[in-house]
Amino acid sequence: MQDCEKLLDEPGRLAAVRRYAVLDTAPEEPFDKLTRLVCNVLEVPYAAVTLIDADRQWFKSLVGLSGSEGPRHESFCTHTIKTRDPMIVPDATLDPRFRDSPLVTGAAGIRSYLGVPLETPDGYNLGALCAVDTAPRTFSTSQIEIMKSFASLVLDELELRQIALSDALTGAMTRRGWLAAVEKEMARGARQGTQAAIVLFDVDHFKAINDTHGHAVGDAVLQALTRRCLLHLGPADALGRIGGEEFAVLVPDAGLPEAMELAERLRRSFSDAPIEVAGQALRVTASFGVQGLDGDTGNAGSWLAAADRRLYEAKAAGRNRCHGG
Ligand code: GH3
Ligand code: MG
Ligand code: MG
Repeated sequence: MQDCEKLLDEPGRLAAVRRYAVLDTAPEEPFDKLTRLVCNVLEVPYAAVTLIDADRQWFKSLVGLSGSEGPRHESFCTHTIKTRDPMIVPDATLDPRFRDSPLVTGAAGIRSYLGVPLETPDGYNLGALCAVDTAPRTFSTSQIEIMKSFASLVLDELELRQIALSDALTGAMTRRGWLAAVEKEMARGARQGTQAAIVLFDVDHFKAINDTHGHAVGDAVLQALTRRCLLHLGPADALGRIGGEEFAVLVPDAGLPEAMELAERLRRSFSDAPIEVAGQALRVTASFGVQGLDGDTGNAGSWLAAADRRLYEAKAAGRNRCHGG
């Protein structure tokens, strides 16, 4: 994908925002340190680390103002993320994009702005680091360079958090990270009325693979299955390693029929072709339990437990099959 296409790829960008699993998390000192530094070094009253969600700007860190989010269309940062370059607004009252914004006309009294996009290694702008003043002003080249460095530090922090949420063997999310993503998806469902489903699977007779070929081959099989699985997932689908040889996919915006189709595609991608490991071709299958989100789902744990009951049915019915409910 071309660089400019990435900037226009809003579904991909939103998927990246979700992948970092940072929306609606509590304030954290590494981010607050950086926004305080922005205020001190650039001598501005306000600074923020903002992430741009579908319809809101959400603050991971905010200095000088209170609140945790605001409407996206009123935000300055939604314009910053359209480019690779820092965005400077020397006087918001002279800028037709912002002069009528409540951020400018209201109590916050914003007059000038410098924002640097928070660009991921794969080229998506998650949000911005911004310095904001209540008087018109310009920003020097060295101040802009400092802000770019701070923005890359914000990204480093976000990357570190993501690595901590990834399973070392397969790169899938850890159980903890995945469950946190599920909680967020449930909150989004409650807010926006969106659908979602869980596709849970467990490798069949995996103990026999370990017993016959050794633990290292077992590890390589888990890595190969993860790679196969990812080929069939969309950018918003979240794959987690729930236990030893048990994985789950969170499928946002999918009803039960679509999630069952995905489960069936995954099942066939495993069973239809052997996995080549250490010069051997191993036939590996998995059993699938699929569960949609509904009014009685409860929390992430009970949703997963419901999917696990479907998975148990699939195992009991003979393995290498999908059961949904
Ligand atoms: P079933 O079809 O009922 O799921 O049978 P199973 O043999 O897959 O189930 P069981 O739960 O008895 O065995 C799971 C095995 O997975 C046991 C454990 O040693 C192995 N395992 C768990 N984590 C890892 C891992 O990280 N690497 C390897 N190689 N094996 C693992
Ligand atoms: Mg198993
Ligand atoms: Mg198991």
